Amino acid sequence: RAKQEGRGQWCFYTTEMQQRSVRQMQLEAALRRAEERDELRLHYQPQLAVTRSGEIAGQVIGVEALIRWQHPELGMVSPGEFIPLAESSGQILAIGTWVLRTAVRQMADWVREGLAPCVVAVNLSALQFRDPGLPELVQAVLEEAGLPPEYLELELTESVAAGNPQAACAMMDRLHALGVRLSIDDFGTGFSSLNHLKRFPIHTLKIDQSFVRDITTDADDRAIVQAIIQMAHALRLTTIAEGVETDAQADFLRAHGCDMVQGYRYCRPQPPADALAWIHGQRQRAGESADKPATSPL
Ligand code: C2E
Ligand code: MG
Ligand code: MG
Ligand code: MG
Repeated sequence: RAKQEGRGQWCFYTTEMQQRSVRQMQLEAALRRAEERDELRLHYQPQLAVTRSGEIAGQVIGVEALIRWQHPELGMVSPGEFIPLAESSGQILAIGTWVLRTAVRQMADWVREGLAPCVVAVNLSALQFRDPGLPELVQAVLEEAGLPPEYLELELTESVAAGNPQAACAMMDRLHALGVRLSIDDFGTGFSSLNHLKRFPIHTLKIDQSFVRDITTDADDRAIVQAIIQMAHALRLTTIAEGVETDAQADFLRAHGCDMVQGYRYCRPQPPADALAWIHGQRQRAGESADKPATSPL
């Protein structure tokens, strides 16, 4: 009998451990209390319009909200690690609501302080997107903060359309009807059917940073980025390149008509006060360079 029990425990141990490591279980438990313990923060990364002049980056027209989790013992845990965990455990629904509410309140404060026109982009996980109550939640959060809907953009990934594109399209229509903007994040890494893409009420395609990274050296990546920009414009969509780190990448993107850029070349994601200070500085710089004649052939 003891042997059976032992074996039972062994089975439990292996299946649990194989599927989820000790670290993952630790993180999941800690994440459950992260919000109440005030361990979650949002950092904001500016998104800039591409100018026609030699100065690549002009006005800041958006900021992306990116979650940060600082745990007292585990340290800084990256969203790349804990967001997938929160998705598989369902915790992403509560965390996602916190993100939405915090970002919308922040932007409402900034608009009152004169930051307009600038949009806050919030990442939505596929699980949040499939929640039928999402449009009501978004509307309630906007009303509660007093933020007009056009100041909010929701970033979806191509995966939201997987399985049931009709339902995805219906949800996008409901969100669009609220007056918020929709964008497709990490575009090019999923398998979007172009047939669906043309019917989705979206505003922006975010070109995944994996294509931008080697844009100056890899002919395939250059071709893909050019094709995405051309297709987006043919469908009357705006493009934003993620992960822009160098002037050479920025030059290529400007030369091929990319509308916006976001990346370490300009500004890293930062706490709200630092992001705001950077944006004010950039507005002055962009204002000054706008007086100079355009030097680009575009
Ligand atoms: P994402 O939405 O595609 O965000 C872009 C990621 O690229 C961010 O990583 C950002 O910090 C990073 N990044 C920005 N500029 C550069 C650059 O020039 N070079 C490089 N190498 N990276 C750059 P982060 O903050 O670690 O977030 C990773 C992912 O986690 C996000 O990818 C998003 O999928 C997810 N995520 C972050 N915050 C949230 C959130 O509030 N909700 C949900 N559902 N997902 C989130
Ligand atoms: Mg994003
Ligand atoms: Mg992305
Ligand atoms: Mg991503």
